[in-house]
Amino acid sequence: MKRRHFLGIAGAAGLAGMAGYVLLRGDRFSARYTAEEAEALIAQKVHEVAQSGTGPFGAQVYQGYRGLAALPWYELNETGRLVLVDEDVPSAIDVHAHLGMNMLFAPQIDLSQRTNRVEYMLDCDATDPGCPLDLDVYINANFSDAALRRLQLMSLAQLLHGSGAAATHTIPNLLAEMDDCRVERAQILPIAWGLPFGDALTETWLKAIEGAKAEPRLLRGGSVVPGDPDAPAKLKVLAEQGIRMIKLHPTMQRFYPDDRVMAPIYEACGELGLPILYHGGRAGIEPEFSHKYALMRHYEGAIRDFPHVQFVLGHAGARDVDGAIPLAQKYKNLWLGIHGQGVTKLDQLVREVGADRLLYGTDWPFYHLAATQAKVLIVTEGKPAARHAILLGNAERLFGFA
Ligand SMILES: [Zn+2]
Repeated sequence: MKRRHFLGIAGAAGLAGMAGYVLLRGDRFSARYTAEEAEALIAQKVHEVAQSGTGPFGAQVYQGYRGLAALPWYELNETGRLVLVDEDVPSAIDVHAHLGMNMLFAPQIDLSQRTNRVEYMLDCDATDPGCPLDLDVYINANFSDAALRRLQLMSLAQLLHGSGAAATHTIPNLLAEMDDCRVERAQILPIAWGLPFGDALTETWLKAIEGAKAEPRLLRGGSVVPGDPDAPAKLKVLAEQGIRMIKLHPTMQRFYPDDRVMAPIYEACGELGLPILYHGGRAGIEPEFSHKYALMRHYEGAIRDFPHVQFVLGHAGARDVDGAIPLAQKYKNLWLGIHGQGVTKLDQLVREVGADRLLYGTDWPFYHLAATQAKVLIVTEGKPAARHAILLGNAERLFGFA
């Protein structure tokens, strides 16, 4: 395919996909997505809410992210910021963070600004007291319909006129929160959308991190458009520029992980030693037409056929976590990023997959860094080796720091 032709198609598809997020509903079911699979998601949500508080850790509900100060490891400091105060908690590497996004028509964000507070994409600290934050359910279950609508509008603003919240998703704000929570490094992950213009998060963030001299605390990441014939060459350049990890997002980029068109990207990542972090599974708040891309069975072919690629399944499969567990047990090149999972589920992951395959990730700035950290601390109380592995040791192995 000629390059210009491809970009035209990718650009149009990107725009159509964006519009789809707001406007369209596609055909519901096919061999790639069955009615049973749609029902399983609904059942998972219902079951999880019913089970909350009945697991090994009892009820784990706090008043906003600030409310985590009620846990023994945290305090609110004199300026009201949540800080990790227990000296025995190991420092952490966050494998899954982002910066403020601006795409398409939205103006550039000054990523070097320090602001008073971070407006999280799902902001449990926006009110006083904060929203009830249940650590025993998948994290997005904590947000009201109004909060989810705000998230939708925010995402739209990031394409059109710019988002005020995104202007708080800056490098100094992230570094300050990392200091508060003793997170020593964070892997920054852009997404390549395949838009005809205004689609340069990889380059923008790379320059911003360089400009802020934020390395080595912020690890630069990259993304490519699925099916882009130039992707392998782009990945080579990114690796030479010091990119540490690639993010691919099946629901936002609208591709099946096991699609043959992805093979050159996986081959290049294998050759270059670049781990791939997938958005893993259905979060349950994205438009239903995109759910078909994120079923666990569509990831297996890639993980199986590219054993030399280290794959990280972000969110541990999200609401499809029960399908992620057997994959992680079967394939040694699969790691689970634990962001989002509740404490009962995280405990199950430690027991059934093993603490040495789980990675601390936060999805900042959707949520506060401590939201996931607190769950690790609750689940690994009395298990210092598991705590160290999840927060730090496994990421050091993955990135070759240890
Ligand atoms: Zn993410």
